[in-house]
Amino acid sequence: MNYICTECGKTYPIDWEGYTCECSGLLELQYEKRPIDFERLSACREASLWRYMEALPMEWEEDAWKRTTMGEGCTPCIPLSVTRPNLLIKMDFHNPTLSFKDRGGAMLMAQAARLHTPRVIADSSGNAGTSISAYAARLGIGCDVFVPASTSDSKVTQITAHGAVIHKIPGSRQDTAEAAIRAVKETGFFYASHIFNPFFTEGTKTYVYEIYEQIGSLPDAFLIPVGNGTLVLGAYKAFCDLKEWGYIDKLPRILAVQAENCMPIASAFFYGEDTVTPVAPVPTLAEGIAITAPPRGSQILAAVRATKGDMITVGESAIAEARKELASHGIYVEITSAANYAAYKKYLGLQPEAAEQKIVLPACGAGIKSSH
Ligand SMILES: *Cc1c(COP(=O)(O)O)cnc(C)c1O
Ligand SMILES: [Zn+2]
Repeated sequence: MNYICTECGKTYPIDWEGYTCECSGLLELQYEKRPIDFERLSACREASLWRYMEALPMEWEEDAWKRTTMGEGCTPCIPLSVTRPNLLIKMDFHNPTLSFKDRGGAMLMAQAARLHTPRVIADSSGNAGTSISAYAARLGIGCDVFVPASTSDSKVTQITAHGAVIHKIPGSRQDTAEAAIRAVKETGFFYASHIFNPFFTEGTKTYVYEIYEQIGSLPDAFLIPVGNGTLVLGAYKAFCDLKEWGYIDKLPRILAVQAENCMPIASAFFYGEDTVTPVAPVPTLAEGIAITAPPRGSQILAAVRATKGDMITVGESAIAEARKELASHGIYVEITSAANYAAYKKYLGLQPEAAEQKIVLPACGAGIKSSH
């Protein structure tokens, strides 16, 4: 197993401490994967994302995951209501720290455990930080989390409860990332970045394996929110795996969701660009996807296009309305997560025939994570 640069192909050993290639290209992981035998899984494997171990990067010091796991993954997948059986909600706030980020957080922190790292540094607008800090606490690893000063109090409370040191950075999400990278360079601690470190998306891909196992196929489309793209990119990896292993013939469409107030990826998509131009920050209710300059923007665009997918943007009032409506069906999500359902409704308005298609959308974070 090693890191490999997506630009120049240079490889790095797995205990490499840099977070990008010397050429500043983004890193991916290269390792031996075996096809998952879904038929045989249920009898012999535990109910967590580690049940897919043959397809996960764990070939080295195999038991690090046992010290790490809190039973993440294996979340319910339910219809929105009896009148909307084709719209499936993947209840990913049923994860240890109440968001889908635990899929990547657990995978990344199991790697930190294998490296016997004493301390990690993370930067996050919220949920990635809560996840990394919880697993760090579990593993006895010190943790610094850099967050934008505007991050909701409930997320900051959750992070500090795990003993992590919080650093509130004024300015944009970009300023927060730069402060974290400065600290990594000064201290040499492990950069537990959900954006740069590819272990994270190796964890989020289990989102798709699970849906395949739960419904016995993949749906026509996946509505996925996108800020830094950890769920989009993980999902795309899993689609490619399932196709390579012969479980599906064609990739489901990714319908990626952004807020109108912060839509750098959607703009690039609509203009046919291959790279994402950073936008100026404008506040949005969907703080968890308000990423103005996503480092993996080009990869995200390529993934959405490879699935013949689309981008859907949603306005502030639609997000607020969607949150109420989901709650009226018993599903209480953090405000960011309501953007997904707002996007579904917009999509149905534009393409009424989509009501006949099977579509999955994630309930990414729990309602109590929002401060109102
Ligand atoms: C992290 C997060 C997202 C977006 O994920 P990205 O990896 O930034 O694309 C969406 N919703 C919630 C609740 C999140 O925590
Ligand atoms: Zn390179």
